[in-house]
Amino acid sequence: MANVSPLLVARHEAAHAVVGLKLGLKLVEARITPGEAWHGHCLWLGGERFALACMFGAGVVWDRLCHEGFSAADAELCRKHTTTNAAVGTCYKIAKEIIRNSRAAHGLVTRALLNADDYRLTGNDLKRILRGEDD
Ligand SMILES: [Zn+2]
Repeated sequence: MANVSPLLVARHEAAHAVVGLKLGLKLVEARITPGEAWHGHCLWLGGERFALACMFGAGVVWDRLCHEGFSAADAELCRKHTTTNAAVGTCYKIAKEIIRNSRAAHGLVTRALLNADDYRLTGNDLKRILRGEDD
C-alpha cells in the first residue's frame, strides 16, 4: 500500500480479519507495526483454500473501496489460493459482501488494533471483542 498511516493499515488488516473470521478461519494474531511506513499482517492457522483466497481478496477489496489502489501482494496471494481468474472474481465478491455487512465489526476490530498493547491482538482477543465482551 502506498498510504501507510496507522489508521489506514488498521482498517486494511481489520478487513482481512473480519472476512477470515466470518468464513471460519482460525486467526493466530492480527497486528499493525509502527514505522515510517506502517504495515501489518494477519496470521492464520492454515484453513480451507477458498476461504483463505477470500480473506486475501478482502485486502484488495478494502483498498479499492477506499480508493487506495490495491494491494498487489494480496491480489497475488488470492490468485495463488484459487484455480481460475473467475474464482478470484468470486472471492472479491464474497469479501465485498462480508465487508459491507460487517461495518460495525470492522470498526470494532480497527479500533481494537489501534488501542492494543504492541498493536497486537490474538484470535481469542478478537472473538471476545466481536462478541461485545470487551474493547
Ligand atoms: Zn493485505
